[in-house]
Amino acid sequence: MNVRKSLILAFASIPSLLFAQNNPAKQYVYNRAPLTANTYIQLPLGSIKAKGWLLKQLELQKDGATGHAEELYPEASNLGPESDWLGGSGEGWERVPYYVKGLVALAYTLDNPDLKAKSQKWINWTLDHQQPNGSFGPAKMNDWWPRMPMMYAIQSYYEATGDERVLGFFTKYFKYQLDNLDKKPLTEWSKSRTGDNIELVLWLYNRTGEKSLLTLAEKLKSQAYPWADIYTNNQFYYYGDDFHTKHSVSVGQALKLPAIYAQLNNTPYYRDATEKGISNLIRDHGQSSGIASGTEFLAGKSSFQGTETCTVVEWMQSLETTARIVHDVQIGDRLEKIAFNTLPSQFSRDIKSHLYYTQPNQVVCKHGNSGFDEDYDGGILLSPYSGMGCCRYNMHMGWPYFVKNSWVATPDKGLAVIAYAPVELNAFVADAIPVKLNVETNYPFEEQIKIKIDLAKPATFPLKLRIPEWCKNPQITVNGKALLNVKTGQVYNITRLWNSKDEVTLNFPMDIKVSDQVNKSVTVERGPLVYGLQMDAQYSIRKKHPVAGFFDYEVSSASPWNYGLVIDRKNLAKSIKVENSAMPENPFVQATTPVKLKVSAKKIPSWTMAYNKMHAFEVPRSPVASSEQTEEITLTPFGSENIRISNFPVIGTPESAGKPFKENFENATVKDWLLYGGSWFIKDGAFHAASNKGSWGYGIHGSKALASGTMFKNLSYQATVQLNSKGNAGLIFRVTDAVLGADMYKGYYLGIDAETGVIELGKSSDLKWVVLASQKQKLEIGKSYQIKIDAIDNEIKVYFNGSASPLISVKDDEFKYGMVGVRAYDSIASIDNLLVKEEAK
Ligand SMILES: [Zn+2]
Repeated sequence: MNVRKSLILAFASIPSLLFAQNNPAKQYVYNRAPLTANTYIQLPLGSIKAKGWLLKQLELQKDGATGHAEELYPEASNLGPESDWLGGSGEGWERVPYYVKGLVALAYTLDNPDLKAKSQKWINWTLDHQQPNGSFGPAKMNDWWPRMPMMYAIQSYYEATGDERVLGFFTKYFKYQLDNLDKKPLTEWSKSRTGDNIELVLWLYNRTGEKSLLTLAEKLKSQAYPWADIYTNNQFYYYGDDFHTKHSVSVGQALKLPAIYAQLNNTPYYRDATEKGISNLIRDHGQSSGIASGTEFLAGKSSFQGTETCTVVEWMQSLETTARIVHDVQIGDRLEKIAFNTLPSQFSRDIKSHLYYTQPNQVVCKHGNSGFDEDYDGGILLSPYSGMGCCRYNMHMGWPYFVKNSWVATPDKGLAVIAYAPVELNAFVADAIPVKLNVETNYPFEEQIKIKIDLAKPATFPLKLRIPEWCKNPQITVNGKALLNVKTGQVYNITRLWNSKDEVTLNFPMDIKVSDQVNKSVTVERGPLVYGLQMDAQYSIRKKHPVAGFFDYEVSSASPWNYGLVIDRKNLAKSIKVENSAMPENPFVQATTPVKLKVSAKKIPSWTMAYNKMHAFEVPRSPVASSEQTEEITLTPFGSENIRISNFPVIGTPESAGKPFKENFENATVKDWLLYGGSWFIKDGAFHAASNKGSWGYGIHGSKALASGTMFKNLSYQATVQLNSKGNAGLIFRVTDAVLGADMYKGYYLGIDAETGVIELGKSSDLKWVVLASQKQKLEIGKSYQIKIDAIDNEIKVYFNGSASPLISVKDDEFKYGMVGVRAYDSIASIDNLLVKEEAK
């Protein structure tokens, strides 16, 4: 008798309850020694069904991007019938596995026969064509990596169906891996995404107890990048030309590796590395919607830097996995923030298109070059083909994985919540007693969550509830009776004898807060939702695709966006009003989204579109003066539209200019620097220009880092500059209007080139490089030189290595004031000991 049949029989005797088709005899498969005992258990796919607004997202996917993916991308090397993942001639690499991973999760979460049938052909081909040596997938594909997402698809499929082919399939493949990893070690993608592979190895170990799987897990870990070190010590940019440790997707995907490995090696070093890594990432590269930037390298905190859709879904999966192992409520808070804000912002309202990159301040979606390290000319075009061909295959897992991982079973035979949303959950508690939980809520669009319990018979078990850190006055009642000692940021455990019709009500009052962003701008948040400016979004069709209803859209705003907020940070409730309306079917549609905020604002006329018209200039440094009228503007959830401002300047009296600036990079982070291209990083007490290599021939010339908040007119600027390669690097000053691109700024640059022995002073005038003066000087690569620039009115003098008289002396007054910073042009360079002072005339 197969597992399914036995389950149906087992439940035939339970009246009026439709429980999940799990195996009651075995109950859940817990961690097997020596793996850590206190790990939560992922519920089998299909145990959790989405309801309400969450179900709507899955249905949109079914009728949109996921349901039509095979028609949209029918080529042999994409999802077509000639795919190599169906034995054909294509080269599908990761594309098919990405898609099938999301498809299987969606099919069984929706319990949809068409989607199940669609996924079955991919699963069947893979299971039925395992090679005699144990490898699987296209025989010619010599890469460990794409097999990892396919294994997730098969794992989910097994948990939903109990297909008897699966455990043997995994056993055979992992034996093949163990026998072959020494001969053919992990490289590149497989070396950066090894955590996925280890998670699946441990999953099988818990089911078979085969000891060699632990050896395999250790071997995989030993061949992976040292992610725990990288996260703990902020070493993303320590690997020179290597693409992977700074690649935002891999960085997000690997976040789960230390936590997964901590099940084998339960030390604080591994257990805490994920959280430490997230703290480093958010501090240095964090965006308003709760995730790190990356285009495709980690890209700093600029308000026009983007987040890739793959990064979003990989962060989500990493947080979902980590939350099962490290029981810190902050992980669930972070997951909800990304799921409720970033994820829907990456999709079109109908989930037929996506954006490769989403920006905190996104005023347009269109075709064209944004200047990112990797740009694709379509990175911010709303399209089924936006950017490169990874996100369009990987995006499908976002929502269904969120559903599947929103609740977990606990080793003490209870249930715990990872993230709140409307769901219905069928599980087992205590001694394999079936339970159904109905989580009735419009959360995060309302503050109340009701959990209705339906049990086959009364049972004692723990119910572990995450109390978000943002909630100051959480309340919980059971059957109307308030519970005591409910505290912010805790896991609240209710262990009691539960009966059918018991009802737990959670009330999480949502206060308004503002979070600090780049250039002292702010983002308005309320509970887990992040808010942005409601603009009058205009959609125009740029291209019609052969599949009916699928288009490329450009989106622009018919209303102004250059507002600064007029708020009293000490009394936000007075400054910002909440407006509620009826809950619609899909709350991620701006016109009908049920929670909007009203706030006073003033226009800032000097804040305009950047040179390339692809994005706004950087959010101006707050406080910003404005003599415009006060207006009331509307803020809507970040994920309810594809254009928005979410990093707002604050209206007020600007800081005084000319404050001395000193930085020796001993205890510094890049958080106070505006990074424009080829991210700069701090190591061994100096500031380094990172390598731009490893980005397939794209990359940025003239990467800049500007010290946020500096403003000098007559200045003395000194620093040490060292070239570690060919190319040039040096100091920029009196800089305004800087964006990505070699000469995309207004201001002066003093650069040295150690290879050619040239010291050159010039300026970017009308976005073109103009040499003002240059000198030959004996210079060496790897040697540090002292530079001092005096710029008083129209006189600019450059002193070299402590010289008494200037090496360069010119007159130029095109740029009279501005920021200071550093710049590198196609070089690896280190800059240190910055000292800038405003000089008296
Ligand atoms: Zn992608």
